[in-house]
Amino acid sequence: MNAFSFTPPGSPAKYDYLIVGAGFAGSVIAERLASQRGARVLLIDRRPHVGGNAYDEKDAAGILYHKYGPHIFHTNSEQVFDYLSQFTEWRPYEHKVLAHVRGQLVPIPINRTTLNKLFGLDLQTDEQAAEYLASRAEPVADIQTSEDVVINAVGRELYQLFFRGYTRKQWGLDPSELDKQVTSRIPTRTNTDDRYFGDTFQAMPLEGYTKMFERMLDHPLIDIRTGVDFAELKDNAFEIADHLIYTGPIDEYFDFRFGKLPYRSLKFDHQTLEQEQFQEVAVVNYPNEDVPFTRISEYKHLTGQTAPVTTITYEYPSAEGDPYYPIPRPENQELFKQYEALADATDNVTFVGRLATYRYYNMDQIVGQALATFRRMDEKLSKERPQ
Ligand code: FAD
Ligand code: UDP
Repeated sequence: MNAFSFTPPGSPAKYDYLIVGAGFAGSVIAERLASQRGARVLLIDRRPHVGGNAYDEKDAAGILYHKYGPHIFHTNSEQVFDYLSQFTEWRPYEHKVLAHVRGQLVPIPINRTTLNKLFGLDLQTDEQAAEYLASRAEPVADIQTSEDVVINAVGRELYQLFFRGYTRKQWGLDPSELDKQVTSRIPTRTNTDDRYFGDTFQAMPLEGYTKMFERMLDHPLIDIRTGVDFAELKDNAFEIADHLIYTGPIDEYFDFRFGKLPYRSLKFDHQTLEQEQFQEVAVVNYPNEDVPFTRISEYKHLTGQTAPVTTITYEYPSAEGDPYYPIPRPENQELFKQYEALADATDNVTFVGRLATYRYYNMDQIVGQALATFRRMDEKLSKERPQ
């Protein structure tokens, strides 16, 4: 493709920045550069829309659903929450998840209610629940893997009921082969708090993520081209802009020079059902390996939308497909470090985001990472070209 054949009428001879990927990483940096530095930005994405994995849209039945699986916003960072609040109002929402275990639906993270329901107990206090868990836990001296974390906290039976099967399906690996950070995401509770997250700020963008992105990117200095793959213009990148910000997979940027970094993918089966409600909470997890999917999500719980029909999504983990999850294990980190060293030695390209930094980060962490990246760029620019 000719370097400029795809740019909009009236575009500048050269942009200040070409940003690859219109997810949180690329969009936040585009917004900051345009609004704070007066920079001209061209933002591209190979998908036909902005928003990255957080993209939502209405389906044929008019139900707002998340095309790439359920995205629930939560953060402890006031800075991140305040930043996003410029582009959206919020719907208060505290996420609840039930797990389908031994034919029952019980709270996950495991809490006192889970123990009482599953084992027919009558634990009344935090102390009693803590004592019960301590009697089952198998202390692991040096916690390294995702198996160690759970066995150390709750013992083998609960590990097998809630974590082993789910993790084997989700990652195609046994928890003993995965870094501890994966299952450490899920706490164990001795109280009856049945919220999935404990963060200070928990809310959903009132009109959805896509609307929030559209407002973030609605700036005269930002041009957006969706449906454009960076591969088509890589050779001309520095004719288009002085600086490149890349939020795609880092191994792809370097033509897989050291081999492919493993990413886990998912297939989404979205279904609209002729009933008002399908399940009692937004997400039900299915840790049992008898079924191939990991969880079912029902969006109306997240969005508060009312309608006589409802839309749900089954998630089927897969080795093939879009790269959704970096896989945290030591050998993958080693390989990433090789690519990271190349990235550090590459002038005029900034790597940011979940795929480019190969980190299992939530949305708020990516917003935080993008804001910090912008601040560093801004400081450097201020020294070079004070405004
Ligand atoms: P992405 O959103 O992946 O955006 C990268 C963009 O770059 C993509 O749109 C891609 O098309 C584009 N791109 C890549 N390569 C190229 C190329 N060569 N040319 C052009 N464009 C390219 N986080 C939460 O906080 N809460 C949740 O509940 C939650 N649920 C999740 C559920 C699922 C199933 C998944 C997969 C993730 C979930 N996350 C959740 C994580 C969240 O999706 C990420 O933290 C966030 O979207 C990362 O933003 P990003 O901009 O780094 O990457
Ligand atoms: N997990 C599990 N059982 C559950 C929930 C989570 O084994 O019921 C494990 C699994 O390995 C999963 C990880 O904990 O991949 C992190 O769960 P989370 O819900 O944070 O995953 P995400 O929403 O990022 O897919």
